[in-house]
Formats: sequence, structure tokens, C-alpha cells
Amino acid sequence: MLHDQRIWCVQQAQSPEELAKWLTEHTMCCCCGFELGGYLFLNDSTSADGAQEYGVCRKTASAGVPDVQIESITFGWCGYEQGLRYIREILAGRYDSSDFTRPVRPRLQSPTQHGRCHFCA
Ligand SMILES: [Zn+2]
Repeated sequence: MLHDQRIWCVQQAQSPEELAKWLTEHTMCCCCGFELGGYLFLNDSTSADGAQEYGVCRKTASAGVPDVQIESITFGWCGYEQGLRYIREILAGRYDSSDFTRPVRPRLQSPTQHGRCHFCA
């Protein structure tokens, strides 16, 4: 379940490999999100010290904004290889109609709009 009060600062990832590195080898701040191939990976960890958990969202055809969460993955428990495998499966649409799917309306900002919040201050 995504934190509903959180506002995420979303950066574009360049490749599944780069994204896997960010998600599995770094502890990102709680307002950090990544976009790749129309999917969003939003940091849903409860704190910067907790295991890094990411909500995975996508846009359905009719909505211009991400409106469905399709998975929640604890990348903090994955090694790089396993994280990369998840990311590739997600990009291939393997999770698009998983049982987990639920409507969401995450609040997103670009790095310029975001500046600094209390998570990344
Ligand atoms: Zn922030």
C-alpha cells in the first residue's frame, strides 16, 4: 500500500540495469521515485533505515497519470541480479494484471518542482 501523504520526486532511469543498481545497491530517500518504460517505482519504505520497498505503478490507457499500483517489491532484500529480473518482468508486462492491482493516485513532482522536502533535507 502506497503512503498516501507522500510526494515523490521522480527521475527518469536510463535502463533496467541502471534502475536495478539504484533499487538494490543504494538506500534512497523516502521521496525518491524512478520512471522507466511507462512504469513508476516509488519508494514506499517506512523509513530510510528500513528495507527499501518500492511500489510499482503504471498508467492505464485512459489516464494520463499513473493510476494503478501493480506490485510492491522489497528491493532491499534482492541482490542486483534478482532486482534486474523483477524489473525486466515488470517492463514485459508480466505484473500488469496481478492480483495485487489496486487504484492509486500518487502525487508526483519533477526534481525541479520538488526541491527538498523533510525526507531529503
Ligand atoms: Zn524530498
